[in-house]
Amino acid sequence: PCTDFDVAYFHSYAHVGIHEEMIKDRARTETYREAIMQHQNLIQGKVVVDVGCGTGILSIFCAQAGAKRVYAVDASDIAVQAKEVVKANGLSDKVIVLHGRVEDVEIDEEVDVIISEWMGYMLLYESMLGSVITARDRWLKPGGLILPSHATLYMAPISHPDRYSHSIDFWRNVYGIDMSAMMQLAKQCAFEEPSVESISGENVLTWPEVVKHIDCQTIKIQELDSVTARYKFKSMMRAPMHGFAFWFDVEFSGPASSPAKTTSATSVASVSSSMSLFGEGNQKKRSNPSDALVLSTSPEAPPTHWQQAIVYFYDPIDVEQDQVIEGSVTLSQSKENRRFMNIHLEYSSAGRSFVKESVMR
Ligand code: SAH
Repeated sequence: PCTDFDVAYFHSYAHVGIHEEMIKDRARTETYREAIMQHQNLIQGKVVVDVGCGTGILSIFCAQAGAKRVYAVDASDIAVQAKEVVKANGLSDKVIVLHGRVEDVEIDEEVDVIISEWMGYMLLYESMLGSVITARDRWLKPGGLILPSHATLYMAPISHPDRYSHSIDFWRNVYGIDMSAMMQLAKQCAFEEPSVESISGENVLTWPEVVKHIDCQTIKIQELDSVTARYKFKSMMRAPMHGFAFWFDVEFSGPASSPAKTTSATSVASVSSSMSLFGEGNQKKRSNPSDALVLSTSPEAPPTHWQQAIVYFYDPIDVEQDQVIEGSVTLSQSKENRRFMNIHLEYSSAGRSFVKESVMR
């Protein structure tokens, strides 16, 4: 059912700004284009569905790669513009814009390829992957291509003293006035909810851990209602710890039996074997051993509009080198609005433990 929340969600995609931001994100848009070109042999003469086409850009890339037909689906009113863009580029006979939800529109044939840019902050925010799964289960031929094919969410403990002093310590002395009475409120306001901001590799205290690895061919919608991971870090340095950063990467590899040049049957294993301190692709679009293209949003990768998502503690915790930090994190769809995400974080280290609950709205 299309709830009021979804109406608001799709309305937000009718504004130009959000599309401008995504399209100007070159790491994002160029990696998608490159992935389409890399799989041209699986797209040429084939039928494609673009789940959430927005302005139509990925659909047009697929048409340029030789697709026979592209169904460009979007429930937002941006579909009106997508249709005009397609027409202005002389592609109306190839790219069919369907203005509606992938859950509701009808496509009267099976498709060879699904392409979608569904990733939200912290990967799962917005809960759009469920719609890609719905499209897969409705229309994709067995063994069809899904781009991206895999996604991995990572987390790591961080130190970010500058951010803390900028928002909190600032109140200690304001024009010579002791305003430290403001500090409690400042912490509440700055750190209650996760924030999306750019950190650098230097903020990260140790190797990241995988929170969730997703194979887009096999994942089921129910697996996404709630994702729980246990973590256990060992800080590589002595530092004040301010919280945890989350980031993700997505991989574009062909189906196992495909004649594409990737040998993707081993791609899942290769994700971990080639994982560097910051996950896949920490250099510019580095390829893993299976040769699959990777779009990374790690602190060491070229910046993207996703940046990183940070769950801050209200107060820093001093950690020693080699100190073990362990606990768990649960990401679940909010009951109040499934587009929101609840983050339940359990922390335990050096005899101290607590739970932090937050909501990404
Ligand atoms: N593919 C475009 C836009 C990506 S943003 C690009 O790469 O630039 C995601 C888009 O998916 C939004 O325009 C949103 O309206 C659309 N969308 C999300 N869920 C959808 C669903 N269930 N059905 C149809 N469109 C959806």
